[in-house]
Amino acid sequence: MNQEVTKWVDFIQPTRDGQAEIAQAKAKVPASLSAEEEARVITELKQLLKEEDAVLVAHYYTDPRIQALAEETGGCVADSLEMARFGRDAKEQTLVVAGVRFMGETAKILSPEKRVLMADLEATCSLDLGCPEEEFSQFCDQYPDRTVVVYANTSAKVKARADWVVTSAIGLDIVRELHRAGEKIIWGPDKHLGHYIQQETGADMILWQGSCIVHDEFKADSLALFRQSHPDAMVLAHPESPASVLAQADIIGSTSQLIKAAEASNSTRFIVATDRGIFYKMQQAVPGKELLIAPTAGESATCKSCAMCPWMAMNSLAKLRDVLEQGINEIKVEEEIRLGAVKSLNRMLDFSEKMRLNVQASGDLADDQALFQHVGPA
Ligand code: SF4
Repeated sequence: MNQEVTKWVDFIQPTRDGQAEIAQAKAKVPASLSAEEEARVITELKQLLKEEDAVLVAHYYTDPRIQALAEETGGCVADSLEMARFGRDAKEQTLVVAGVRFMGETAKILSPEKRVLMADLEATCSLDLGCPEEEFSQFCDQYPDRTVVVYANTSAKVKARADWVVTSAIGLDIVRELHRAGEKIIWGPDKHLGHYIQQETGADMILWQGSCIVHDEFKADSLALFRQSHPDAMVLAHPESPASVLAQADIIGSTSQLIKAAEASNSTRFIVATDRGIFYKMQQAVPGKELLIAPTAGESATCKSCAMCPWMAMNSLAKLRDVLEQGINEIKVEEEIRLGAVKSLNRMLDFSEKMRLNVQASGDLADDQALFQHVGPA
């Protein structure tokens, strides 16, 4: 096994007065394993999951080997909404969350009686980092008549400050409902997702100016050229991408919605604007079809310009084995903060349950367009 390497990643740090600064955060590239070491670690992990009454809850952007292990051992591979729901409903008493810190916190907020472990407590997210609770709260205080809606990619403290938490899978529907009810909104932290929702719903929204370092790197000019050389390809984009990229998308949606859209489509080739970790599950859904990553500034540009989240990449099989073996890296959330955050999270989960009852998809994208209003032509 070689050594873990630390690197520094730039991200946008917005301020409450609408300005933005460049800040830096640490990311670690895990040590790689030989084939024999990897096989041994997987065997040990499977055994530990059983012994520790634990289940692996993995995000689509993690290493495909982690996703495969989660599937094989009865865990889940999902977007953050489904991860939250799966963790809450799991019978196991230990949740091993493979993702970034806010996902582990969300699991703990919803399941305080369970032990939540993470591969690396420093695996973070530029949206979470770029939205410190004190600054964001002061920003909200300037508009006391507005409903505060925050994306799931935030700290427990920011969730506790909010009225609603949403994920990209359900944000559009929730804001649409709030807008219908006449509510004005403060949105944080992702400016691109906020702008997209604002456009689609017509809601009155004031946006915090955070962004995802991975999706921010997709380039509209290069995408236009790429589409010319692949005219038959359908463009699937995550709404954390810039508006100029979304304007070229055939389908805009969360990770799970993009996978469903690829499955429902007759196209045989897709250009995908989201973290390339999604290819593991998307390729399972559309075997034999071609998946191409949307162009970024180029792999040689910066470490964040490779359509791979440097913090998601901090999850490794060896680290997951170590945390289960040693019982380390447990997520803790102060009870007062948890009680605040759980209210806004449960509002989203309750809303989502009601939608599930009302929405029964046929699986045919053309027929389901009216149901999946958040997964439509751009
Ligand atoms: S891909 Fe972007 S939004 Fe997702 S965890 Fe990484 S930095 Fe955060």
